[in-house]
Amino acid sequence: MVLFERAPAKINLSLDVLGKREDGFHEVEMIMTTVDLADRIELYDIADGRIEISTDNQYVPNDERNLAYRAALVFKNTYQLHRGVRINIRKNIPVSAGLGGGSSDAAAVLRGLNRMWSVGISEAELIELGSVLGSDVPFCITGYTALGTGHGEKIRTLASPPPCYVVLAKPNIGISTRHIFPKVNTDAISHPQTEAVIQSLAEKDFDKLCHHIGNALEDVTFPLYPEVKQLKDKMLQTGASGAMMSGSGPTIAGLTRHFSKAKRIYNGLRGFCNEVHIVQMLDRR
Ligand code: ATP
Repeated sequence: MVLFERAPAKINLSLDVLGKREDGFHEVEMIMTTVDLADRIELYDIADGRIEISTDNQYVPNDERNLAYRAALVFKNTYQLHRGVRINIRKNIPVSAGLGGGSSDAAAVLRGLNRMWSVGISEAELIELGSVLGSDVPFCITGYTALGTGHGEKIRTLASPPPCYVVLAKPNIGISTRHIFPKVNTDAISHPQTEAVIQSLAEKDFDKLCHHIGNALEDVTFPLYPEVKQLKDKMLQTGASGAMMSGSGPTIAGLTRHFSKAKRIYNGLRGFCNEVHIVQMLDRR
């Protein structure tokens, strides 16, 4: 038996770090939204209990370090399942980009195995399972637009953004979140107005959304990688109505209402960095 799952990328519309907790995690407040750029996950049921993994991307591990592999292992162990799975990942989401690719692959494996083996686990339980794997995995279980608090494991669904286009641009560097978070000084960084972003989503107010989007981690990433700040500036100069870094970077997401403008921004940035995409945020119907 074979089963397919889409594993879409996420971008942040806000990301705030409130403090460091005693368990070592940071207390965050982040608004995330799913975009229509997705990895394709193939799950092949195998009888002998093994987990096998392969991908078509040289920067993604083909072994137990892959977050999708770990998701399958956690799922099998938690529910004491004896079947095995071959996971094949076709990567479309840029790697180490702040777009949650690994987390989304892991979430897709949890959803997919639940379906393939008819285990009947609720979404709430999958979210709990996902939180063991990484802070972005719980959001990726549900997708669409949500507020994540705690260390990302508490998910509250929000209204979908107003219709618009998002230009994603990634400079030719990879950034690991693990290297950025330890450098956060919550007293020194500028905090985005999360509540105002939530309001602009509820009101479907595009201009207000563009005005309030923000990411506290820019204060850490920009001084370390000035090219990321330059890319954000360039995104705004070429016509984006609002722009921010996603996750810990380096991808910059620029928002615009019209496709013709998105295309102009895309053309303006293509010579500047190697990966540029025009995507849309997904609307929960
Ligand atoms: P992070 O916040 O963890 O840095 P990200 O969204 O910026 O996440 P990812 O594309 O998820 O970036 O990759 C982060 C790291 O995880 C990379 O070093 C990559 O090799 C590793 N990784 C493990 N599994 C996967 C996967 N399924 N897809 C992509 N990267 C993976």
